[in-house]
Amino acid sequence: MNTRMIKLRPEKKQGTISKSSGELSVTFLGGLNKIGRNCMVLEYHERLLIIDCGIMFPEADMPGIDYILPDLNYLYDRKDQIDGIVITHAHEDHAGGLQFLLREVEVPIYSSRLSLALLSRRLDEAGLLSKTSLVEVNDGEIHQIGKFEVEFLPVTHSVPHAFAASYSCDTGTIFHTGDFKIDHSPIDGRRTDLARIGEIASTKEILLLLSDSTGAERPGTTGSESTVRTSIERIFRENQDKRIVVSTFASHIHRMIQIIDAALEQNRKLAFLGRSIKTNITIAREFGILDFDDKCLIDIEEVQDYSPEEICVICTGSQGEPLSALSLISSGQSKYLSVDENDCVVLSSHTIPGNETGVNRIINGLMRRGAHVIHDENAPVHVSGHASADELLTILSLTKPKYFVPVHGEHRHMKAHGDLALASGMPSENVFICHDGDSIIFDRESARVENDVASSSYLYVDGNVGGITNALLRDRREIGSDGLIVIVVTVDYQDGSIVGGVEVVTRGWIPRADADDYKTITADTVRAAVENALDAGERDVEALKAIVRKAAGTSTSDTTGRRPIVLPLVIEV
Ligand SMILES: [Zn+2]
Ligand SMILES: [Zn+2]
Repeated sequence: MNTRMIKLRPEKKQGTISKSSGELSVTFLGGLNKIGRNCMVLEYHERLLIIDCGIMFPEADMPGIDYILPDLNYLYDRKDQIDGIVITHAHEDHAGGLQFLLREVEVPIYSSRLSLALLSRRLDEAGLLSKTSLVEVNDGEIHQIGKFEVEFLPVTHSVPHAFAASYSCDTGTIFHTGDFKIDHSPIDGRRTDLARIGEIASTKEILLLLSDSTGAERPGTTGSESTVRTSIERIFRENQDKRIVVSTFASHIHRMIQIIDAALEQNRKLAFLGRSIKTNITIAREFGILDFDDKCLIDIEEVQDYSPEEICVICTGSQGEPLSALSLISSGQSKYLSVDENDCVVLSSHTIPGNETGVNRIINGLMRRGAHVIHDENAPVHVSGHASADELLTILSLTKPKYFVPVHGEHRHMKAHGDLALASGMPSENVFICHDGDSIIFDRESARVENDVASSSYLYVDGNVGGITNALLRDRREIGSDGLIVIVVTVDYQDGSIVGGVEVVTRGWIPRADADDYKTITADTVRAAVENALDAGERDVEALKAIVRKAAGTSTSDTTGRRPIVLPLVIEV
């Protein structure tokens, strides 16, 4: 492996971005150094084209957060300059943020017919569908979107109809792989179009390659999706007398096709559990991607009327999501399905880093109920939808880019991908490991990276509420680790005295049995501090609150060695 250094973060330049006319730029709003919230913007002659607008799922230290968006203010500030958004495929990390973007910005969405169908339900629920123009694009088509000529190319991935695309303007051509792998025998026969990628590279020089780094550390090649079929068929064969329950991603339609084929082979009835699975199965049937007779389908409520060997259930929850179908089944709380030794449960998925605890909890729960559990650590029931090192090298050598930015990965993946580019012979000064917020800017001769052109901040979403800040998250973490203590002091300003007692209410601070003693000590300490201040003439509410906070903080720390969040309430009468 080549050990030359890649420029990790070019020196920060002060001031705002200065682009001269004719310069082409790519600004990363999300998707670098963390997997998720993919969103980038191409700019040429002050016209913008967005590629993807995804969400990221929260990490363990983000209590209560449902998901994270890129900071879209860069786009909101330029809404009149945006000509469109390309959605490469219908995964949440590429399209889940659309409903937020489209509230503020009216732009046409360019994507495959299937991706648009998969996205439409969410947009419809958000009341955005009727005012959004959806432009269906097909494999091999070229569309002029604003200043860019965009050619859409088929790639194989873990959702059907994903696209790579080339984006051309007078300054040059950018090639973006989207999420992809090179599968020579895909379920739908729709291969990554290597021939056309090579052709584009030989007719137009590729100025910049942006390529999926997720699998860059994995040597060799990713197996074909069709290799999972052998394993699924064996599971069905070896568990003929059991009910088979399979959990997978709702968008992984090719995986569901293979499971359904194996189930129908044994004349099992199919039942689906989980809203997203039902919706996507309906769409796949409408599109003719998935074909089975209605008489093979039963409602999930009828499952208990059949003997185990007659049933195959496909459900959501392979990532351990707490309220998903599989999670409820594993804890015995599902109103539709209870499993026992007559069940074989298959988690046909890879556990996304961060979800291990939830998935383990589910596997343990299912086994405790007697089910036979098969997952990707004890059987080959999953292959990735992302290219491994050899496939990435194939793309690098086919496209022969002048410049390269690895995208879609944690830092380790992007670094490994950068190393592959160096190994393929690219000069290190032409390989950039960028960060969210960076812009890479091209004129005809050179490229440069400017930092902090856009904000790289996380936009947290909790329920329907955006605008959750890091300070609020810090409060949640502190409440979670040390508890909360509320202190109410009522003060007669004229007398300069405390009316009634000092009230102390606590949550999550100390065991209830000990609480009264500690609360009394804290109340006494606070009372003494406030009375001192009142005697000295202090009448400002904020100053009194600060005194309460300090006294209570000292008292709780001295007595219990812990620092709960103190919420002082000073009421004036
Ligand atoms: Zn994807
Ligand atoms: Zn992705």
